Amino acid sequence: MTWRATVLTLFPGMFPGPLGTALAGRGMERGLWSLEARDIRDASTDRNRRVDDTPFGGGAGMVLRADVVEAACAAAMPEGDPRPLVFLTPRGAPLRQSLVRSLATGPGAVLLCGRYEGVDQRVVEARGMVEVSIGDYVLSGGELAAMVLLDACVRLLPGVMGAAESAEEESFSPSEAGALLEYPHYTRPAEWRGLRVPEVLLSGHHAEVARWRRAQSEAVTRERRPDLLQTEQRRDSAARMPMD
Ligand code: SAM
Repeated sequence: MTWRATVLTLFPGMFPGPLGTALAGRGMERGLWSLEARDIRDASTDRNRRVDDTPFGGGAGMVLRADVVEAACAAAMPEGDPRPLVFLTPRGAPLRQSLVRSLATGPGAVLLCGRYEGVDQRVVEARGMVEVSIGDYVLSGGELAAMVLLDACVRLLPGVMGAAESAEEESFSPSEAGALLEYPHYTRPAEWRGLRVPEVLLSGHHAEVARWRRAQSEAVTRERRPDLLQTEQRRDSAARMPMD
């Protein structure tokens, strides 16, 4: 079944953009996923197709109106549409591979891209939107964030990745020790500018290679992203809590 993505945006011309090329583009051509970009402005009933207004409480910038965004959602999602509605916003929960995996195993997603100051919070809550941030920085709009989320999901869809790519062993794959970063990679030549590839990788000894890679993963995660490590304490509390 085709994984369906719908993007609600003021700039539908930005899509598919980079998602129309390479892995994602080939997946789309092969019908493994589909992308529809809908103009939020089409939901405006205003003579001048206005979609925004000034913020209550004052301050700079404009806010996308709740009634317009609601009408855009209703037009994009018929009653009973099972897809989650995701609002890309710096206020959201940080995007993690666990959310990507769970979206990729569902029927698809509807993504709302904000602009200006953002979106009237009442429609975000009334629609039960999942608020997601792609990082601790502010973009000018949600479109690039939506592309990041879609790219991450689409590559996990069955059949999108070929033998040359694999999601089985990569950064953030769940393991006993937590969501580890990946080990380093090397290819030919075995010596470059006097730098030798680690000998173990040339040994042909699969168990030792696996052990070395595992140790490298743990070391780099400890050094760069200790927050990802599953400590004894966290393992205990995870055992007591339902999985998200
Ligand atoms: N006033 C907002 C704030 O301070 O949180 C920033 C609004 S930003 C200029 C306009 C739109 O860009 C947001 O509504 C959101 O859709 C998108 N956006 C910006 N940064 C983002 C991020 N880190 N993750 C996801 N979406 C982002």
